[in-house]
Amino acid sequence: MPLRAVIVGIGSALSDRFYGSSAVVLAPTGKILIDCPDSILRALRCSGEISGISLDPLSIHDILLTHLHGDHANGLEAFAWKHWLARRTTGGGPAERPRIHGIASVVARLWERLAPSMGQMGTASLSDYFDLCTLVPGTVSEICGAAVSCRETDHGIPCAGFRIRADSAELAWSGDTRFDPSHVDWLCEADCVVHETTESPVHTPIECLNALPVEIRRKMRLIHMDDDFAPAATDIVCLAEGDVLEVAASSRRPMAT
Ligand SMILES: [Zn+2]
Repeated sequence: MPLRAVIVGIGSALSDRFYGSSAVVLAPTGKILIDCPDSILRALRCSGEISGISLDPLSIHDILLTHLHGDHANGLEAFAWKHWLARRTTGGGPAERPRIHGIASVVARLWERLAPSMGQMGTASLSDYFDLCTLVPGTVSEICGAAVSCRETDHGIPCAGFRIRADSAELAWSGDTRFDPSHVDWLCEADCVVHETTESPVHTPIECLNALPVEIRRKMRLIHMDDDFAPAATDIVCLAEGDVLEVAASSRRPMAT
């Protein structure tokens, strides 16, 4: 059975055309939101309408967070308030808080970022909104019935990429990163690789990906593109918002970390 993911946003940090790069993975026992960019509630509605797959934010209880740049994390406040207010209405307890999964260096300063707008005059803390789950590179975590591994990237601030495996199909998500052949090698253990591209010193220019072997380019899909990015500049498939990525297992092998 293929692993499916709905692409929510494909834009780069400065895009005025697209939502920030994000997706919802339809894992065996729940939905996993990868990153939470600006206008996340509208972005989920739009990609849900295009794909025909309901992405009600209240049906999403797990977020994989690559890093804290705004185009990946600015939506956390609205997402958190949406759930917090719903729990106040339904009487839901702490067990119903959404979970944020990220590496220690990313999540350590999350509340520092959210507290000025969510601290409720010093009476609230991060645990009022989210259940924080720290991912450790080199280990595998189970999230929504999927096996998730992570790897730190080179992005100028703490950041991670992910591999998500379910039913023998595996999807890799680069996270923001300078071009790093060792990261590409790790990602390419998966059946499909969603890789960022942006012309910037802390991102991956398309020329670097174009120089990869054809078998890698075939399993790669592009995201985090500048608004003036020309799809004709590459033979790697560019993703669009609302796309449903179907990842089929190409071989059976043990989970590598
Ligand atoms: Zn970034």
